[in-house]
Amino acid sequence: MPEKLTVLAATAHPDDVEVLCAGTLIRYVKEGHKVYIAIACTGNVGSKLHTGLEIEAIRAVEAQRGADVIGAELIMLGYRDGEVWQNNPTWKTYVDLIRRTNPDVIITLDRDDYVHDHSNVGELAYRAAIWASVANIPDTQYPPIDHIPTVFRAETVWMTRVAPPDYYVDITEEFEQKLEACRQHESQYSDFVKKQFGIDDWFEYMTVVSKLRGFQCGCKYAEAFRVEQTWPNHKPYRLLPPVQVNAHSAAPAGSNL
Ligand SMILES: [Zn+2]
Repeated sequence: MPEKLTVLAATAHPDDVEVLCAGTLIRYVKEGHKVYIAIACTGNVGSKLHTGLEIEAIRAVEAQRGADVIGAELIMLGYRDGEVWQNNPTWKTYVDLIRRTNPDVIITLDRDDYVHDHSNVGELAYRAAIWASVANIPDTQYPPIDHIPTVFRAETVWMTRVAPPDYYVDITEEFEQKLEACRQHESQYSDFVKKQFGIDDWFEYMTVVSKLRGFQCGCKYAEAFRVEQTWPNHKPYRLLPPVQVNAHSAAPAGSNL
């Protein structure tokens, strides 16, 4: 296991990462790890003001600005909103995404999330993670990787299903930078989220969730994750920030902070 990790955040729409795990990704970057953000969809339905073509162009710029604030490399997979399904070609897209980025850690969405783009991306990333290391899969572009990444699930969006987390990441020092990344998605908080979901203050929601998770683990703000309970995802060292992959200095496997 290298001391510097590669992390792939595989999410559905521009802004998912910022809402769910930006603080954690910022911590990875601050520790010197490489972070990719792979967004499945263009965000073409995310507006009450613009056409699909207009808003996806706006959201591509916003996604890049958000990734820049986090310090991550952005990959856009180009699916239209609502069109991410669990089928063979899309699964192979995720096999190739994982092979291309070669992550030690994948952070993706929960299988119980309320939007099928979210739950399908979560399943695709999870179901591709083992196979990315396997040879002889037809119609893939990249060679197999030499290990199986550990898969973590972020919270459901809006905490529509609240599961007990396995791990917490203290994002107190990164919280303002997380909000700054979220502010790059002006088309959402100034228009779509407000008009579609009736949420006047998107940032208050993120503050409440981060504070709740922080209360639970004894810090001011936190993000929470569950690890996939399958071989070989559990490790005897910590892969979430603060990363402790050195066995001699590792915290116990269940240590949260
Ligand atoms: Zn989303």
